[in-house]
Amino acid sequence: MGLLVVGSIAYDTIETPFDKIDDALGGSSTYISIAASFFTAPIHLVGIVGSDFKQEHKSLLAEKNIDLDGLEIVENEQTFRWGGKYHYDLNVRDTLFTHLNAFQNFNPIIPAKYRKDKFVVLGNIEPKLQLKVLEQMDKPEFVICDTMNLWIETAREDLDKVISKSDVLIINDSEARLLAKEPNLIRAARKIKSLGPKYLIIKKGEHGALLFNESQIFSAPAYPLESIFDPTGAGDSFAGGFAGFLHQTGDLSFDNIKKAVIFGSTIASYTVEKFSLQRLMEITKLDIKDRFHEFKELSRFDYE
Ligand code: AMP
Repeated sequence: MGLLVVGSIAYDTIETPFDKIDDALGGSSTYISIAASFFTAPIHLVGIVGSDFKQEHKSLLAEKNIDLDGLEIVENEQTFRWGGKYHYDLNVRDTLFTHLNAFQNFNPIIPAKYRKDKFVVLGNIEPKLQLKVLEQMDKPEFVICDTMNLWIETAREDLDKVISKSDVLIINDSEARLLAKEPNLIRAARKIKSLGPKYLIIKKGEHGALLFNESQIFSAPAYPLESIFDPTGAGDSFAGGFAGFLHQTGDLSFDNIKKAVIFGSTIASYTVEKFSLQRLMEITKLDIKDRFHEFKELSRFDYE
């Protein structure tokens, strides 16, 4: 059975203090799927694009064992376009434009052969669409959910329903504070867990990530990168690596979920080294394994 991934597919225009790129392949489900493809197959992608979506990008996804039967192509419509500009502090990003185009009418229909999938990754889309995806699934066993500030502020009721049906919620620190209306992350995490998810992951950008279950906290370091080129898609790549590793191993113990957090962090650390998906298209499974071991060494210490 496959790993179901639902989210946006986009052409991104990105400006950083170092360079600019137009119409680069992006979108939450694109990053999630490609990151997950390093660990598992098949990946069942459900998304929507316009008729301008390039054949080379369909081939790129197919080469990564990403099944495209759930990709809807709308004739005479354009693919979702998103523009973002980063400041010198790369944690600060302005959205320059959001042209929904074909994405505006996204109504995710899950192909029959995907409905039995046990692992579901709900990329960042409107919570009512995330709910619609879950309603169509037979009996998902592990649901991983991502979201963003916009939905916390504008679709709270539906978002709470999605969170209550999710096993893992992955958000960043500012989203956690907003969701819980609580500045302290530990207290915020307690409040968010009371909404229902078994696990909560709070990403802290260049400061790593925190994983919470009902009683324990695991603190994952961030990889000390000297040059971060483009942070776009780091969060989605984290979710993809995390989900792909768990899907491949099928082991949902807390110890294995900790390893999945490190694999997610590993993939995200590669994503930010170049524009768009460029770095993920270069690296190999061996690169991932090597950096995973470097992560292990980063916070290992002995005590006599
Ligand atoms: P991240 O850097 O993890 O926030 O993800 C960036 C990706 O999210 C980009 O590739 C965008 O195309 C996509 N994106 C931006 N805004 C939205 C939105 N409102 N809904 C869905 N995807 C979006």
